[in-house]
Amino acid sequence: MLTNIFETFESNVRSYSRSYPVVFQKAKGSILYTDNGKEYIDFLMGAGALNYGHNNEYIKRSLLDYMQGDYIMQGLDMFTVAKSEFITAFNQHLLEPKSLHYKFQFCGPTGTNAIEAALKLARTYTKRSNVVAFMGAYHGLSLGSLALTSNQYHRQVAGVGLNNVTFIPFEQNGPEGFDSLAYFEMMLEDSHSGIEKPAAVILETVQAEGGINVASAEWLAALYAICKRHDVLFICDDIQIGCGRSGEFFSFERAGITPDIVVLSKSLSGYGLPMSMLLIRPDLDIWKPGEHNGTFRGYQLAFVGGKAALEFREAEGLDAAVQRKASYVTRFLEDEIAALDDRIEVRGLGLMQGIDLSRFRDPLMAKKIAQDCFKRQLIVECVGREDKVLKLLPALTIEDDVLERALEILRDACLQHIGQKALS
Ligand code: PMP
Repeated sequence: MLTNIFETFESNVRSYSRSYPVVFQKAKGSILYTDNGKEYIDFLMGAGALNYGHNNEYIKRSLLDYMQGDYIMQGLDMFTVAKSEFITAFNQHLLEPKSLHYKFQFCGPTGTNAIEAALKLARTYTKRSNVVAFMGAYHGLSLGSLALTSNQYHRQVAGVGLNNVTFIPFEQNGPEGFDSLAYFEMMLEDSHSGIEKPAAVILETVQAEGGINVASAEWLAALYAICKRHDVLFICDDIQIGCGRSGEFFSFERAGITPDIVVLSKSLSGYGLPMSMLLIRPDLDIWKPGEHNGTFRGYQLAFVGGKAALEFREAEGLDAAVQRKASYVTRFLEDEIAALDDRIEVRGLGLMQGIDLSRFRDPLMAKKIAQDCFKRQLIVECVGREDKVLKLLPALTIEDDVLERALEILRDACLQHIGQKALS
């Protein structure tokens, strides 16, 4: 199929189709198929919305049964069986075994909707307007969340001031030797810091769009302790690294902390259906009825898919599978890719891994390699400052042989553009 219908009629704002200019038609597991049957291995997975693979059979069956039965599709936020079953499953599979106690707020369908709700709640609860976010953060592009997103490319089109946010460097991204946490605490304690006490701190425990920057468990625990000492809410944006990608359902578990608010979306519905949700510390739930409202807050099919996804996770032992595959990927990246050249840095957590090429003189190195991967039928995205990091986001369910094939493609593309260091 020709692509000129899109080029002619779709707004210039389109983005991913520029990197992958083919027409996709079908998908199964980790493979995308174009309209003429060409196969691509997907290392982007709907930007993390498809952790369980394309058209996951188990989840699909639940969705088909639901539709076949003429069960309710639109429910505003009325009581429905599908919602009740989702909440029950989420409690049974996740919150109770992890001794977590949260209330659920179903938000508009996308991640940014839930971020807006979290911000509004934190500000209303604390009666403070400032929020601390991290350089390199991506929390969405509607006005409130855009104010928390650091990339100037996105910020410059806000059209209004993006205020009430203070940015500090993420763990490893400050100037040499700079201690963000000491700076943060000073900001809170020094009566001359000039910075308003924040309602909340918001962060991704692994910055995804920001270049796969992994916060250590110790750093997260220390940041959390500062928040507790100073009565600042801790909001974990688990939209991309959550839902099992880190090797546990929630990405903060490794730090032994309990965020006041957790933001979930993307893979929550299990099938790529739009859904977002806040987990709220119960005493923070000071909303009055309908104060924050909307038509699509809890889409029934997403509840059905979300429940099936939790059952699937458990039946498959997905956390253990992610941990096993992650150590295979890490080993491959270190032995076969980082070994090609000292300027390559690899890092990540679970099945979110990055290849940082920012130390090469060629600013387009990552983009060229991603383009080459595409030619070799692997879909991979560039993220980070000036898009210099390749982001690997396979399905958590990817088969071992497909994973191996994808990594070999990556290695071959890197080899093509970087060359091989005199390997002895
Ligand atoms: N937070 C994080 C960590 C994200 O990765 C994203 C999307 N990439 C968002 C928020 C925004 O979600 P959405 O695009 O669904 O609005």
